[in-house]
Amino acid sequence: MTRVYNFSAGPACLPEWVLKKAAEEMLDAHESGMSVMEMSHRSSEFQSILDTCKERLCRLMNIPEDYEILFCQGGGTMQFSMVPLNLLKHSADIINTGQWTKKAIMEHEKLGTTHVIASSADANFTYIPKITQNDLSPDSDYLYICENNTIYGTKYKELPPHEGKLLVADLSSCILSEKTDVSKYDLIFAGAQKNMGPAGVTIVIIKKDLIGHAKENIPSLLDYKTYADNDSMYNTPPCYSIYMVGLVLEWLEKEIGGLDEMEKLSRKRAKMLYDYIDSSKLYSNPVVKEDRSYTNIPFVTGNTDLDKKFVKEAKEAGLVNLKGHRTVGGMRASLYNAMPIEGVEALIEFMKKFEKENL
Ligand code: PMP
Repeated sequence: MTRVYNFSAGPACLPEWVLKKAAEEMLDAHESGMSVMEMSHRSSEFQSILDTCKERLCRLMNIPEDYEILFCQGGGTMQFSMVPLNLLKHSADIINTGQWTKKAIMEHEKLGTTHVIASSADANFTYIPKITQNDLSPDSDYLYICENNTIYGTKYKELPPHEGKLLVADLSSCILSEKTDVSKYDLIFAGAQKNMGPAGVTIVIIKKDLIGHAKENIPSLLDYKTYADNDSMYNTPPCYSIYMVGLVLEWLEKEIGGLDEMEKLSRKRAKMLYDYIDSSKLYSNPVVKEDRSYTNIPFVTGNTDLDKKFVKEAKEAGLVNLKGHRTVGGMRASLYNAMPIEGVEALIEFMKKFEKENL
């Protein structure tokens, strides 16, 4: 068996510790005589998997008591609609930082007044626009941001001002890669398939007092209250994905030592790659330095044929999914939590060799 280094932006690599544990428990999980995939979501075994998963997330992220954790389906994309359906009363302010806010804007516009108060579209989303309190609309209910932009490789290093407004943030591609002060946000959501587990479950962390104010007559499954009132089991939840998230959280706690340690690792991985890219004569990263993501690192050679050759030869060397998003081109290395330092070292070694051969 040869495992590759998988730099996919999501679904992404998972820790081997987690995959092995899942394999061990495949036929008989929690002494139930069956796999988690075969379990009733109403069983005491599954209830304990869900409870433990929530407890671990609370501990790891230090989630205050006045927040609720909800397990939804429909990906990050469904949150683009659920957020306005539940929180938009007058209007929403959104900062446009690329594809994933554009899609959120599109859904918001169907449901209420939406102000795009800043955008980095003028420079192909290579920076995070800075706003001041004055940029916020007088009647907006919340400011919506995408904290880490998976495609363009930008990240907010500080939260934008939002006095008097709720803050809603899409953390799909940076959750659990660093410490997060949850109390600074009113709603956080993240699809699991990058840093938390497999696809199929989306975690929503929401201030309890924001639940129960959805627009009238919306479908039950689009109302956060339905999830809160039923412990995220109004209908069958994505049981196996929740179980896998639980294992990833267990790995983070027991094997890594929590988010302090993971933050150090994440910064280390990113610094290694950026330092090399910045010192290289062949590769460049288009993002404004202060706004660079720690988890998604795009780079180009400046020659599309050479980029293609790079992706092909990297794959042959066991470094896969390095092709950039179709809207950006070039390459992108996603360095999520499960990417070992050895994977980053192997990538840099390959890049050096390729540079020597092709410059
Ligand atoms: N937000 C961000 C930041 C993303 O990277 C993605 C997916 N790559 C999404 C939202 C959409 O997530 P999903 O595919 O789970 O709907």
